[in-house]
Amino acid sequence: MLLIKSGRVIDPASKTDALMDVLLDGQVVKEVGEPGRFAGLKDADILDADGMIVAPGFIDLHVHLREPGQESSESIESGTRSAARGGFTAVCCMPNTRPVHDNASITRFILDQARMVGATRVWPIGAASVGSQGEAIAEIAAMKEAGIVAVSDDGKPIATARLTRQVMDYCRSLGLPVIEHSEDVSLAAGAVMREGVTSTRLGLRGMPAAAESVCVARDVQLAQLTGARLHVAHLSAKGSLDQVRWAKSHGLSVTCEVTPHHFTLIDEDVQYDSRFKMNPPLASREDRHALIAGLADGAVDAIATDHAPHEPALKDVEFDRAPFGILGLETAIALTLEQLVHLKKISLQRMVELFTVGPARVLGIERRLAVGQPADITIFSTTHEWTYNVNDSPSKSRNSPFDGRIFKGAPMATIVAGKLAFRRN
Ligand SMILES: [Zn+2]
Repeated sequence: MLLIKSGRVIDPASKTDALMDVLLDGQVVKEVGEPGRFAGLKDADILDADGMIVAPGFIDLHVHLREPGQESSESIESGTRSAARGGFTAVCCMPNTRPVHDNASITRFILDQARMVGATRVWPIGAASVGSQGEAIAEIAAMKEAGIVAVSDDGKPIATARLTRQVMDYCRSLGLPVIEHSEDVSLAAGAVMREGVTSTRLGLRGMPAAAESVCVARDVQLAQLTGARLHVAHLSAKGSLDQVRWAKSHGLSVTCEVTPHHFTLIDEDVQYDSRFKMNPPLASREDRHALIAGLADGAVDAIATDHAPHEPALKDVEFDRAPFGILGLETAIALTLEQLVHLKKISLQRMVELFTVGPARVLGIERRLAVGQPADITIFSTTHEWTYNVNDSPSKSRNSPFDGRIFKGAPMATIVAGKLAFRRN
């Protein structure tokens, strides 16, 4: 048994915010009670959470673990260790591996590997189309049987409206969400950052914000047509969020996620440094404000990292040639505290919701800290001061624009299925 003592328990599902002790027994939560309640207990290990927040296990809806096929950039083992260090107890891994995760034997491989070497739970996302090529629908039912939690052709959008409709029809009947990397590839072709004054000044080719929102509009219309659950990945533009707001106000099952880098940085931060290159690219100041408003008022459902490791040999090249994507798992909690909570844009309760109940709802599951629930717990501090040093990361890659940043607030311990997956010294 493990006793988490004297923490401030925040559980959005039950609207709890109180000092409590949490007792874990094996893989489940055994009891939750006022501090000191379990004082007489003899045989429990004790984790002192005095001054810390104790929350249901955080879920990251959007992670690239790179296995199978690109293990020089990341693996299921290294990626989930990075996730645990970032306070996540479960990560959903995108299917753009090599080969693409578009069949059930790869689903089983990922789940087996996660069971053997994973520090956190791994919930795989299968490809929507064969090879994510956008031509034929993938074997979604077989992958669902094997354990996928959603489908996506992430890295790119599902190629055509016709195929998207087919995938949505199919996923509606299977009860799976369709996660879309929203991008009109004809508008984005050849672009390396967001189009605007900064891209002109830097002489880099930009994609307009509409490259994203045009695709979101298409998919919202198709979600209405099919009744499917649509989840917009890494939403970065105000125009896209307006589409999601419209969909929600019309009762559609449309949700979205925002990344910490999109609510922290803007296009003006790009200075020919490939660590600032990701897709969707860093957006305008106005977009960032719109995202923060959506995170505060409920239009945004989840914070997801889009953790996209690339080994240094690939990423440490000129801006134009570098691949898109940055690390995200270990800085997500600290950036959320820094940008949103400490600046009073959102409450702590809302922050926990964006990492727990929100992503869970996208997947159609529950997330709460209560008796009988899985013993997946995230413990973090809002005051702990530390410097993020990317060289300390268990990730195999180093591509973070936040290396060297000083933070106030950090993940302190991560418990997965009753076991300590990470603890800060
Ligand atoms: Zn993507």
